[in-house]
Amino acid sequence: MKTVHIIGAGIAGLGAAHFLAAQGIQSVVYEASDHIGGRAAGSIEEGTLFEVGGKNFSSQWPRFNALLKEFNIHEHDAQHPDFHIVLKDQLVKLDKSRTLSGDLRLAMQLGLRGSLQLKDFLGYSRKHADELNYTNGLIQQVEHKWDHKPVSAHFAPSLVAGPMRMFSIIMGAAEPEEVYPSLLTLFTAGFAKGQHFAIQGGIQRFHQGLANNKNIRLGERVERIQIEQGKVTGLVVNGADGEKRIDADAVISAVPAHVFKRLLVLPEQAQAACDSIRYFPLAMINARYDRPVFRDGVNSIMFEPGSVLGHCSANRLYQPEQVRFTLSGAAARKVLHQSDEALIALAEAEFSRRMPITGQLVTARVTRHIGGICAYAPNFTRVKAELLAGVDHIAGLAIAGDYLEGHTMEGCLHSAELASQRIGRYLAM
Ligand SMILES: Cc1cc2nc3c(=O)[nH]c(=O)nc-3n(C[C@H](O)[C@H](O)[C@H](O)COP(=O)(O)OP(=O)(O)OC[C@H]3O[C@@H](n4cnc5c(N)ncnc54)[C@H](O)[C@@H]3O)c2cc1C
Repeated sequence: MKTVHIIGAGIAGLGAAHFLAAQGIQSVVYEASDHIGGRAAGSIEEGTLFEVGGKNFSSQWPRFNALLKEFNIHEHDAQHPDFHIVLKDQLVKLDKSRTLSGDLRLAMQLGLRGSLQLKDFLGYSRKHADELNYTNGLIQQVEHKWDHKPVSAHFAPSLVAGPMRMFSIIMGAAEPEEVYPSLLTLFTAGFAKGQHFAIQGGIQRFHQGLANNKNIRLGERVERIQIEQGKVTGLVVNGADGEKRIDADAVISAVPAHVFKRLLVLPEQAQAACDSIRYFPLAMINARYDRPVFRDGVNSIMFEPGSVLGHCSANRLYQPEQVRFTLSGAAARKVLHQSDEALIALAEAEFSRRMPITGQLVTARVTRHIGGICAYAPNFTRVKAELLAGVDHIAGLAIAGDYLEGHTMEGCLHSAELASQRIGRYLAM
């Protein structure tokens, strides 16, 4: 029986292994780190839940919800109903559902032009929520019309500094000057779809479901995908026993684009496409205090331009003493090289300017996502077509990951499903 070799045990790699298993195809997953889950990893240590990245999902995601059912995971926590956003030095509450239809307090802060632009933008995303994705042609219209300039160039300054920055930071860990309107359109479309939850007990329950009965080799980094005469022939893998070559004729890469492009030589146009996909680094601090940090109805804050904090939230609605500080955006990138202690101190100081932390820190863990969050590229539909054209001519290779079908967990699963189908067809030939 043939084996498919999968690179990376994040949600895309584990998803690919799971979708292959459903086709009766066995796989082996190589994971460079000592744990599964990648940028959506989670663990419980001494009673504290650490979720280092992706955790929230929508009730409308078909693949994610089907797998939850398959793994018998039925207990979910509702997401925060609102954000508080620092606008003109004030904490302004934005109810998520009202934000999408326009909110009076927000309108006052944004002024007439900013308010009308936000209403149009959100109205469009909401109206076309089901058609806005990377497989449907509609997003191309948005790209043609808007992606010639970054988000910051299209909207009123008040809107750029407030809600547009919030979307850019959450979606891409980036400033509105660094991302393009199609990306934010996708984000707000996703926001409009269904209700949002997190798995009770942690996202690691989902990964464990995917990993069950799979062959996963932790601590094994793939250095190279070997290709001869247009066909995959092997992998060079670096593990505890040093570097070795493994025969392989079917491979799924499930690592981010910036890793993938170092594993092989792509045709020039595909290489350029891959190079244009941007990732912005960030750090996530999971911290627990001995008393609530979030209070007075605040459970999620978006910080202002220039702050080292992008977004912070209570881990769960009922866990106001547990905080996820996200250091993201341009100012954060200047401090990410500092020690864990320094980052925690910076985060606490910045947070306390808005809401003083009165409790004692019990535990904290800093996770640096140096690769970062994928912020795609302008005109991504064309970029993706050029990349896939380059990959398509390599027999036995498929790609999955956050840079293909949307960088939500559902998007990663979607790409994993497509990759497993491509490899399934190849093996059946
Ligand atoms: C702070 C943060 C918050 C987020 N919040 C959400 C959210 O609430 N909801 C949501 O849907 N999404 C969210 N996301 C996005 C989501 O977490 C990611 O898109 C998703 O986890 C990416 O999965 P992946 O499998 O494509 O990549 P990864 O998770 O990066 O997995 C790739 C794996 O490959 C391994 N690897 C890398 N190089 C090699 C190599 N050479 N050989 C072998 N293994 C290798 C890595 O160690 C990693 O385990 C968030 C992301 C971040 C960072």
